[in-house]
Amino acid sequence: MKVITKTVLLKVYEPNEGKKKCLDRVIELYANTLDFYLDVIKKAGIYRIVSLARKKKEGKSGKKSNWALNLLEELTISTPAHPNPPYPIPFSVRVDIRRSAINQAIGMVSSYVSNLKNWYEEGKELGHSKPSYPNPKSYSPQLYSTLVELKDLWIREKKEFHFVRIKVLNEGGKWEWKNYPVKVYKRLYEFLEKGYKPLKSARLIKRGKDYYIAITLQKAVKEKKIRKPKYVINVDLNIQRNLACVGIFEIDWKRRESRLYGIKFINGELLRLIYKRDYLIEEIRRRQKQTGRSPRKGDNKKLWEKVNNINRDIALKVAREISNIAKEFSERGETVVVFEKLKGLRGDKRRSKRLNRKINFWMRRKIQERVKEISVEEGFGIEFVYPSYTSKRCSRCGSEGERFSPSGSKALFYCKKCGYIVNGDVNAVFNQHFLYLSHLLNGGGESRPVVRVGTSLKSPSSGGHNLSGVPKATATFYYILPLLSTF
Ligand SMILES: [Zn+2]
Repeated sequence: MKVITKTVLLKVYEPNEGKKKCLDRVIELYANTLDFYLDVIKKAGIYRIVSLARKKKEGKSGKKSNWALNLLEELTISTPAHPNPPYPIPFSVRVDIRRSAINQAIGMVSSYVSNLKNWYEEGKELGHSKPSYPNPKSYSPQLYSTLVELKDLWIREKKEFHFVRIKVLNEGGKWEWKNYPVKVYKRLYEFLEKGYKPLKSARLIKRGKDYYIAITLQKAVKEKKIRKPKYVINVDLNIQRNLACVGIFEIDWKRRESRLYGIKFINGELLRLIYKRDYLIEEIRRRQKQTGRSPRKGDNKKLWEKVNNINRDIALKVAREISNIAKEFSERGETVVVFEKLKGLRGDKRRSKRLNRKINFWMRRKIQERVKEISVEEGFGIEFVYPSYTSKRCSRCGSEGERFSPSGSKALFYCKKCGYIVNGDVNAVFNQHFLYLSHLLNGGGESRPVVRVGTSLKSPSSGGHNLSGVPKATATFYYILPLLSTF
């Protein structure tokens, strides 16, 4: 089971000064508590807390007990068992606000630790800035159900406002329930119709002068294990020449065959972004040579930020395009998207080469992660195959071939043995498809030549599907593929 989470922001409608101050007092108390605990975690040992936080264990009551939270309370709150905590909290705070702040502090420090790890592994070289210990600039308390009541939101009447009840600190320093009017949008109810369940807690957010209540809705979905897909979408993430080459195949389970439905290259607009990015990287290199300045300082830092934003943007867009294809086919039959499993990065002595490889690796991983997220929501499957000579082997006869190109960009694949010439990425997609198909048809057993792939791009049964990404000239390279004899 996997949980999908959605958040809906509801704006608090024009609260008067008194009511605003009540909210501000809650936020302030929360901010002080959060800052206090971020400091305590530093003193108590960051890694100690983070490793405890990972060790969530079933308590006696069947409830999950949070070891890190327990320890932090022990260190700060005086109890009969621990009358003299080492870091006593110097002000009084309700238990629910305290726990909410402690949990957020633990969450912030945990992600700080994992960001730091990633930074040492790759971010450092990619010019990402080193993560610093959490120091929040804004505070948004998570109001547990003891502090917020959302009942009125779920009464579906056509009224201008619904009310969220919040327990706030009044002028006299007492806790008191107050009603805050919010406008409810259709979107909230659409999620309910789709089977999302709202949490009883909500987050209080202040942005500029406005206050918002963030509602969290969740839905548990089964991660689909598709055993007999109708469509298989094999994706080769080349990143350099074509961002992605997508092969769409239709499986005929009776005849144990697979037919090519179409090939789509993901390029177009996105390639322009790649050129822009590469230009920026060149600029960074040029400046570095000129000034000898570190890539993480001054102007270069800004350029790197741009490069990284472009990379993220491209990755998300490629993921979206792949997912859209999968979504469209999954409406006609069960569909699986197949990627190659990413191998770790091995060192390359030439620095510039290594940098490109790191960027490409980062982007491949980002694309795969994003498609995986979308797959859960959209109901298509996702699988990975171990790449095994997918780009070096001839997809027609199986012998080793080579990349070549008249222009030197290695865009084509040529097989000396059978004379097959094909776009290199398409060749890789075919090989990847054979690997997956043989795995599929043999129930995961050893690869055997049971697969016959009829391939013809000249008459794809496109049924109106947009295959405009296929350059017409490459169509001549396709042949009807013979029985796979050597595989
Ligand atoms: Zn060949």
